[in-house]
Amino acid sequence: MKKVRNYWSIDRRSFIKRSSLLAGVCMLGRGTEVFAGNESDFPAEYVARLDDGRLQCTLCPNLCTPVDGENGACRARGIRNGTYVSLVHSLPCVIAVDPVEKMPLFHYHVHGPALAISTAGCNLFCQYCQNWQFSQKSPAETSNFAMSPEDIVMRAIDMQIRTIGFFYTEPTIYIEYMKDIARLAKKRNIKTVMVTAGYINPEPLKDLFELIDIFVVGYKGFTEEFYAETIGGKLDPVKKTLIAIKESGRHLEIVSLLIPEKNDDMKAFQAGAEWFVENLGTDVPWHFSRFAPEFMLKNLPPTPNGVLEMARTLAIKAGVKYAYTGNNPGQEGNHTYCPGCSKKVVERLGFKVLRSFLSAGKCPDCGYQIPGVWLDDLPNGNI
Ligand code: SF4
Repeated sequence: MKKVRNYWSIDRRSFIKRSSLLAGVCMLGRGTEVFAGNESDFPAEYVARLDDGRLQCTLCPNLCTPVDGENGACRARGIRNGTYVSLVHSLPCVIAVDPVEKMPLFHYHVHGPALAISTAGCNLFCQYCQNWQFSQKSPAETSNFAMSPEDIVMRAIDMQIRTIGFFYTEPTIYIEYMKDIARLAKKRNIKTVMVTAGYINPEPLKDLFELIDIFVVGYKGFTEEFYAETIGGKLDPVKKTLIAIKESGRHLEIVSLLIPEKNDDMKAFQAGAEWFVENLGTDVPWHFSRFAPEFMLKNLPPTPNGVLEMARTLAIKAGVKYAYTGNNPGQEGNHTYCPGCSKKVVERLGFKVLRSFLSAGKCPDCGYQIPGVWLDDLPNGNI
């Protein structure tokens, strides 16, 4: 099938609306083209031919087998002219500059900005998705920027940004594009962060360990029932992903959005916290994030602060050394405390770092080494 490209620029109002959807600043250079309803035909990796002749995508546990002309469940991959292809390579629908703390990523180069990108599509179907306008769409339904991996890395260099984040929607589904960007970024000493739900099969995940520096993974709930009903997936593959990343030695942070009536049962949470410590140890930072009513769960209230604090307390009691609360500025759980002497070593207000006393990740009072990726020796108390 001939590749279809619709070169209509989106109108000014749509462009402004799209840009303002994001807290970051959309940074398009001169000559960057915007396409509406476009898709790529980049050959997909992780494809198997079944005994009956069908093609199967082996990238994630969904193991899709679409027919020619159709897409997989993520809408970002499909079969065209008998070949399984990525439909989103070099076609991000979001480009923004964000503080790394937004991902959330607290044990890394505090207060450093990241160039964040994402494409259309997702392999899960979270009923509360904050980015459903992109995640639950195919690239044919979004407006996309034409940006090759080289364009992305050069944009980061031009802006003197030292981190590229694969963020907002699920990067697993555009793994070929992510890997191409990460390969180039590595050569330029730019760090890469994959913010993911962890719904990926072991082989492609293993390939990412060579390229991606940091993983932020959603541990979205603590029971299979929650994953089946609210996420449209399974918990077990996510647990395997978390263990594999931990064993890889890559920097890992974990985020759990707590949703009233859905995954805020503290008995289930307690079991989840025990699994966390038993399998991931006590050094992996764990963020408890406040739910905001969105998409299909607009009927539920935001998470009360008390629930976030209770989760943080239980996690600390279970042994987690770095437990945070997020999307609730001004709370005790926003800050980093030294496990050695309890000093507040990084002070935050929401995503903003107010003060950091760390020096190459060490507590200035007792010298405790806080685990993380620390790019700078920041002078005490200054950002
Ligand atoms: S990545 Fe997409 S196409 Fe591949 S198995 Fe998962 S949902 Fe299906």
